[in-house]
Formats: sequence, C-alpha cells, structure tokens
Amino acid sequence: MTTPMKIKEVIDYLESVVPLDYQEKYDNSGLIVGNTNTELTGAVISLDTTEAVIDEAIKLGYNMVISHHPVIFQGIKKLTGKTYIGRTILKAIKNDIAIYAIHTNLDNYFCNGVSTKIAHKLGFNNLEVLDPKREFLLKNKQVGTGVIATLEEQFDEITFLHYIKEKLNLNVIKYTNIRNKPVSKVAICGGACSFLLNKAISVGADVFITADFKYHEYFNAENKLIIADIGHYESEIHTIELIYDILTKKFNTFAARLTNVITNPVNYM
Ligand SMILES: [Zn+2]
Repeated sequence: MTTPMKIKEVIDYLESVVPLDYQEKYDNSGLIVGNTNTELTGAVISLDTTEAVIDEAIKLGYNMVISHHPVIFQGIKKLTGKTYIGRTILKAIKNDIAIYAIHTNLDNYFCNGVSTKIAHKLGFNNLEVLDPKREFLLKNKQVGTGVIATLEEQFDEITFLHYIKEKLNLNVIKYTNIRNKPVSKVAICGGACSFLLNKAISVGADVFITADFKYHEYFNAENKLIIADIGHYESEIHTIELIYDILTKKFNTFAARLTNVITNPVNYM
C-alpha cells in the first residue's frame, strides 16, 4: 500500500541530506522542470536527463526524473526541438514530468558523495576531502571536491591500473607514464577534475583517478603522479546507486528505479 506523496517531499528530503548550498556557483542543481505540488507517481534515477530517459519515465508511468547532471546548465534562450536539451524539456513538460538535478552539491558531499562512492567501489575507506570548502570547515562540516584515499596495502602501478579497470568496469583507462613507485595514496575525483591536478600532487597522491583531461594537461603530471583518466560517464555512473540509496533510506513507499538507458554519448571501438 503506497501513501500519496508530493514531489516536494522528495525534494525537501534530498536537500536536507545534500543541501543545495553545497553546489558550486556555476551550477544549476535543484528542480529544473515541474511543479513541487504534483503528486509523485515514481522517479527514474539517471546520470543524464535525455529524451530516452524521459521516454523511459513515460513508459513506467513515473513523473519525475532525478539526474546527477542538470539538463539545463547554462542559460538557454529558446526551447525548440532543435537541440536535445529543447526536445528533452518539451517532452518532459508535455508529459508532466519533473526534472531534478543533484550535481555539484552531491560532488561536494564528502560522507557519501560522488568521489566517495568511487573510493568505496574500489574498497578504499580511509578517506579525506581532497579540496575542502573553507566556508563549511568553519561550520565543522566536511564538504569539498574529490577525496584522498590512503590505501591499507600498496599496489604496484600496473596492478593498480588493472585493479581499477576491473572494479569500475572500464573499457579504457588513459594514463600518464609509469613511475616505478608503489601506489599507496590515491586522489579521486568523479567527473571533470583536471583543475585539481596540482592539489592531488600537493597531497602526495601517487595516482589521480578522474576524467576529461585534455591532451596538453596530461603533460602537467610531470612524473609527480600518474593521471588515470577513466572517462566522465564511467567515473560518475555509480552516482545513480548513490542517489537511489539516499532516497530509499527514507522512503519505501514510492517507486524509484535506476535508468536502463545508457546515456554515455561516447562509444569505444
Ligand atoms: Zn559529471
């Protein structure tokens, strides 16, 4: 027997666990499309909101999509069918489907955020924040981007790369030169975190697991660590389990489901 519940209740709960003020200034987390007073019929949880994900919700009879990436990230001036963003939003509105994003606030949520999830998948539990947000340190809260994992046992580098490939189910790892040093400290940051390379070097990480390095940025490893670029989608897909776990910890009365759509726009050959 399910009790009727409004979309607002889900949002209030999510934001009590992962507050919106943890998000970066450039971000657009929160409710993007929809009315909070609508009665919830169910939620699809996905990394990206695409047309296919909206179709999936329609098929299931669910009226909410909760994604890590906000479908509207920068200002848009037109909502037409010419871009995937426009088509996705139009379809959601036509079908009365709410779209909610839990993005950099979830990245910055140390206890159970995106990078912590990757660390746990790898079996690493001795963690600290890689790039703490100072304003929250004053409030005695651990908030920030990325994690540093201190490993219980050392790996050699090639064994370590094979290990993460297997544990995270990766097709490909792009990595910089092997240094012939043991791996005992690892910096991890889900998504595009090349901006944290110097931070990872300064904390003495042997490997930096992240995504979206550009060609010239790889040179900046300077043999001080190994950059292991595992792909953006691959580094963040586990986020959907994280959101699911947060939700089902509190609610068991509504339908929530992980998407079956592979939203990764990148293929490997
Ligand atoms: Zn991302």
